[in-house]
Amino acid sequence: MLDFQSATLREALSPLFSDEAPSGHIAIDDPSTGRVIAAVRPTDVGAIDEAIARAERAQRDWQKRTMRERAAFLMRVSRALGEASEDFAQLISLESGKPLREARDELEYSRSFFDYYAAIAGDERGAILPEERAGTFSSYRYGPIGVGAAITPWNFPLAMLARKLSPALLAGNSLLVKPAESTPLSAIALEAILREAGCPESLMINLLGDRESAARIGDALMRSTVVRKLSFTGSTAVGKSLLRASADTLKRVSLELGGNAPFLIFEDAALESAIDALLVAKFRNAGQTCVAAQRIYIHRSIYKRAVELLEAKVSALRLGPGLDKSSEVGPLIREAAREKVERHLADAIARGATLVSGGERAFDEGYFFEPTVIKDFADDALLTREESFGPLLAVRAFEHDDEAIAHANRTRSGLVAYAFTENLSRAHRLSESLDFGMVRLNTGHGSSAVSPFFGIKESGLGVEASKLGLLEWMAPKTTTIGGL
Ligand code: NAP
Repeated sequence: MLDFQSATLREALSPLFSDEAPSGHIAIDDPSTGRVIAAVRPTDVGAIDEAIARAERAQRDWQKRTMRERAAFLMRVSRALGEASEDFAQLISLESGKPLREARDELEYSRSFFDYYAAIAGDERGAILPEERAGTFSSYRYGPIGVGAAITPWNFPLAMLARKLSPALLAGNSLLVKPAESTPLSAIALEAILREAGCPESLMINLLGDRESAARIGDALMRSTVVRKLSFTGSTAVGKSLLRASADTLKRVSLELGGNAPFLIFEDAALESAIDALLVAKFRNAGQTCVAAQRIYIHRSIYKRAVELLEAKVSALRLGPGLDKSSEVGPLIREAAREKVERHLADAIARGATLVSGGERAFDEGYFFEPTVIKDFADDALLTREESFGPLLAVRAFEHDDEAIAHANRTRSGLVAYAFTENLSRAHRLSESLDFGMVRLNTGHGSSAVSPFFGIKESGLGVEASKLGLLEWMAPKTTTIGGL
């Protein structure tokens, strides 16, 4: 198993590594082999109310600390993450299956949230309000919300947590965290890093569960009148059910949900750059990202050339275990995820698409599927309605701008859209008319600590990252003094 150089990670994680899970434990497997690598003891669901009470006590003390102290703490967390970075990247790669290079990027992306929020501490101070009545003084300021709950997915086991935790703690909240069943090790490691950085007891508490207990943990958090805020990243279906459950206690809710990203390439695009960006937007984390390019529309005049380029470049991608340094694409997270890709592929072919390359399972063990390209998918193919969440790249041709935009917007999701064109007016028109929270023009990237991350339509509620993401963890309070 991993040979940690960091004493903090060694102490927190080595006892968990095992090739079998005793009964009552959650078995964590390596997606590259399908074999058990660790066993984690689940949280007793009956003890969650007591954990919430501990988080409440911790929060009351934490909010009394100055903003400067809280920012200094975030900087210590970033430093500790930096010192353990190689160990941590290997851990992310091991439990999620993603290539080590991507795991290192995730680690740095996660650190950037702690750095950024520490750097903007104190920027959101509120304001003194203009006098409306003689002899009064009014102002508003921002305080914490209180105890928060974060429920996170397996595809970025550290980053999705860091994006919630860093603004939550800076604003003076405490956080109960429910990591995904498949990837709790990064959350356990982060809790240990927080302790190393001097985190007060119970400011962040992990609630570990399996698929069976996830709903019960969610219920306990949603029922609680002490938990004032939910921040969820995951599937749209679960997000909607949590939103319903949060209504009784009227919590503040942020939801970062699924995407169904269109990727448009126009006839005047720099084709090679567009294709390279598409490979990143499609095959990062083996296609298992909410911002993965899902439906690719290419102008008819460059379609043939684009498909040839895709065939050559996708066939050359090296598939392999995340921890193997030469791997460019890793396995899927679990067998059911691989079956979903196969279902989408079979459905698209049955509706008239043609296989260009890939299309098969790979290796005898683990959940690998070849990076795959299909062309001429039909408008009613399953993959136009659901995220494939896998290495299936589907292209079709379009003739006119309006047609491309109509295709792109034909979805209930609204997270991100990509478009490639060298024409400035067209780029501006696209940014106006693509119905998505984020529009990425001539780039396959765009997520950063400073940039608001959000979806419209059924892709979510609220914002993460940036100053707007900090406000999601703050409650404004107006004070009016009369009789002056
Ligand atoms: P998921 O099944 O919704 O799971 C997400 C989290 O919710 C996991 O911790 C899961 O626990 C938990 N969960 C499941 N059912 C629950 C319930 N009834 N009550 C409370 N918690 C529950 O999603 P996923 O398959 O892990 O993640 C993939 C999805 O996340 C995709 O749709 C992707 O687009 C989306 N995503 C969105 C963003 C974004 O920022 N917009 C980022 C990353 C991913 P268990 O693992 O124990 O079941």
